[in-house]
Amino acid sequence: MIDKNLIEISGDPFIIEMMYARKENMVGQDVYQQIGFGNKAYIHKDMWACLQKLIPWLKEHKLKMKICDAYRPPLAHKKLKEIIPQPGFFASAPERSQHCHGTAVDVILTDENGNELCYPTKVDAYRPDFAKEVQSGNFKDFFEYLKKARHDYEDASIPKEIANRRELKNLMESIGLVAISNEWWHYDLPNGISETYPIIEFIPE
Ligand SMILES: [Zn+2]
Repeated sequence: MIDKNLIEISGDPFIIEMMYARKENMVGQDVYQQIGFGNKAYIHKDMWACLQKLIPWLKEHKLKMKICDAYRPPLAHKKLKEIIPQPGFFASAPERSQHCHGTAVDVILTDENGNELCYPTKVDAYRPDFAKEVQSGNFKDFFEYLKKARHDYEDASIPKEIANRRELKNLMESIGLVAISNEWWHYDLPNGISETYPIIEFIPE
């Protein structure tokens, strides 16, 4: 049975493309498929109340929002952590990841045909070459590259990418969500790890 606090995000103007439901991600495995979760985006109902406010704006600007991660089953988090145990990658335990509480989303804006707008990096700073490196235990180049994923990263040679990152941040803050300094795609519901928002165990049937 679905947890009473979770809502499934689906339908226009949201595009559901969960990164861990496919193999093109930093761990190189479709962990959400492996555990039977599939390409599903669930979120805490309080987060949904925020995200819904985006719908008129998205339609007016002929944009869509791609959801790349949302609620993450604790079992999936444990598997991700097993694949890449390196500190600085995944939170040390599901309890410490807002995704496992249903109170975080990883998002990107797209045009009306689903083409991603340009940003300083891909979501999760994914690049196939870096994914191969980190999977073989080599983190140096990737951790250096991660500075481009930060909100304070500036680069005059990519004004459009920087402007899109800023626009996304303004948009998400306008609906009451909070950014984290080192991942431009990740947004949290305030106080999203608390008694109000306990960890959620749920796999759809
Ligand atoms: Zn995230």
